[in-house]
Amino acid sequence: MSTPRPSYQKFAVEVRDSAIDGQGAFASEPVPPKVKIGEIRGEAISVEEARIRATRSERIMIVELSARRAIDFGRSTDPMRYTNHSCQPNARLCIRQGRVEFYAVKPIAPGEEITVNYGETHHEGRLACRCGAADCMGRL
Ligand SMILES: [Zn+2]
Repeated sequence: MSTPRPSYQKFAVEVRDSAIDGQGAFASEPVPPKVKIGEIRGEAISVEEARIRATRSERIMIVELSARRAIDFGRSTDPMRYTNHSCQPNARLCIRQGRVEFYAVKPIAPGEEITVNYGETHHEGRLACRCGAADCMGRL
């Protein structure tokens, strides 16, 4: 039995408790490298509004697309919005035409947590990183 998912979610992903932080996005089927895993779609807002929301919300689910545009995934139901950061990720974010897409960089096994490098975040180094990678930067 498979859960219905939108056509832009190419591989089955489930949300489970994560050892890294809160909940995470886990592959429920094997994902080969370099392919698109899925994407998250949310509410398009201005970067100005994103900065205001970031100060209010405990769990920040905002990605800045450009100097002016951002997307808030707070009300999205796409499982990949739970994707955690790792300093040694198995996937990468790709922002294309206003969408946030996820591509595998390594083969991902069923049950493995999908992670990306967040790069610059709203946390500005105030959050400890618990990704467990050998070359972990320690901070987000
Ligand atoms: Zn780390």
